[in-house]
Amino acid sequence: MEVRTRIAPSPTGYAHLGTIYQAMFDFCLAKKAKGKFIVRIEDTDRARFVEGAEEVVFSALEWFGLTPDEDPIKGGPFAPYRQSERLDIYRKYVNLLLEKGHAYHCFCTKERLAELRISQEKDKLPPMYDKCCLGLSADQIKENLDNNMPYVIRMKIPKSEVIKVHDSLVGDIEFDSNLIDDQVLLKADGFPTYHLAVVVDDYLMKITNIIRGKEWLPSTPKHILLYRFFGWEDSIPKYTHLPVILNADGKGKLSKRDGHASVDFYKKEGFLPEAILNYLSNIVWNHPDGKEIYDLKELEKAIDINSPKIINITSQAPRFDLKKLEWMNGEYIRKMSDEDLTKRLEDFLVDHPAPEIIAPLVPLVKERIKKLSDFILLTNFITEAPEYDMEVFKRIKVENQKDVLQNIYEELQKMEKPWKSEVFEKTFKDLAQKLDIKAGDMFQLIRVAVSGQLVTPPLFESIQILGEEETIKRVASVVQKYPLFD
Ligand code: GLU
Repeated sequence: MEVRTRIAPSPTGYAHLGTIYQAMFDFCLAKKAKGKFIVRIEDTDRARFVEGAEEVVFSALEWFGLTPDEDPIKGGPFAPYRQSERLDIYRKYVNLLLEKGHAYHCFCTKERLAELRISQEKDKLPPMYDKCCLGLSADQIKENLDNNMPYVIRMKIPKSEVIKVHDSLVGDIEFDSNLIDDQVLLKADGFPTYHLAVVVDDYLMKITNIIRGKEWLPSTPKHILLYRFFGWEDSIPKYTHLPVILNADGKGKLSKRDGHASVDFYKKEGFLPEAILNYLSNIVWNHPDGKEIYDLKELEKAIDINSPKIINITSQAPRFDLKKLEWMNGEYIRKMSDEDLTKRLEDFLVDHPAPEIIAPLVPLVKERIKKLSDFILLTNFITEAPEYDMEVFKRIKVENQKDVLQNIYEELQKMEKPWKSEVFEKTFKDLAQKLDIKAGDMFQLIRVAVSGQLVTPPLFESIQILGEEETIKRVASVVQKYPLFD
């Protein structure tokens, strides 16, 4: 049987890192088993519909190289892959449940349900539907329907049963059916709820394995019951509920609120997709050789569809540590060839004012940057005259800085062009000795005069890219500005 995995994102207009984390496992499992990875769009919540939201999901998947085999755009043997285009299908299956007596019409008004909830809260009871409409006779139902009364279809959860869910990571979990609500399956607007649609679609699309976040585990007994009601027990997929990624402080799940949950944030900061995937797998999985840096193929290798766990990951919720990801990203940058890094930077810095300086700067910054955006901070001074800050000059322990700068300016003027690294070194070492300051401080002063900052790529190489004229001009401008600093 072909292994078929899927993700079923709701298009909210926001690409959540958690979706990528999940997609990565689904993708790798499908690849490992030479099966198919499917993307189905769960857009049945009309209240949350956002224009263009689907593209956000697809472009994020593409960025990570998690290319689906079947999806709403590509199509596939089980199209349509957009739930809003499958309404007739859900209607048909809900009718089947009604016929079999596993579902019922509910005409309760919003007001009644709200009152019910308040009284349950008061009595410290779990908020659940009280099955009021389950007692309606066929005639009453017909009359209500004839009167065009709005209704939903609810699932009839059997009383006092133990519903077993098997999860590949944690094994069997038992749920008491008395604590499961008579879930709405079809809403008043004729759209299915997630629970109906997910089961019908996973069944019809022949999904064999569901790898998704643990937040969906409490819904799974409802799904198992639906498989049973439909008579599809033999097709229940294998479930793997991934531990939910927590915020860095361990409090709450990685959320939209703190901005670090969005794929967009990582893209803008210049993180590399392969480093992010490495990190996302590494927070829950240990490479058998203890490696921390590895590519997705290695995760794929470790997946064993025939083993009970499929993949040996922890069930403990990991914390998201941005510092660790930054470190990892830096490792990827250093591993890259200069040509590759140049290409990445050129793509990243599409608006760079002087793209021709990216390539020569790459070998100078490669050891110093952790993400692509660091390149800008480090090299901005080359294309843009710096804004000098006296506080930065004060950090250099040199007295009479103005005089020293004047001397530097004169030496630069005198130095034979094109400047040579050894001559440059010797000139300013000698000058430092003459003025009785440390050579290190001398070069630091030149650095700040040229760039406005204490940290830059290697000084002489930077100056070569900046150009001799510009270098002299900047030192001169600092000498002129110096009274302002006094
Ligand atoms: N629409 C759900 C989501 O947004 C899908 C959950 C599932 O994978 O079953 O994650």
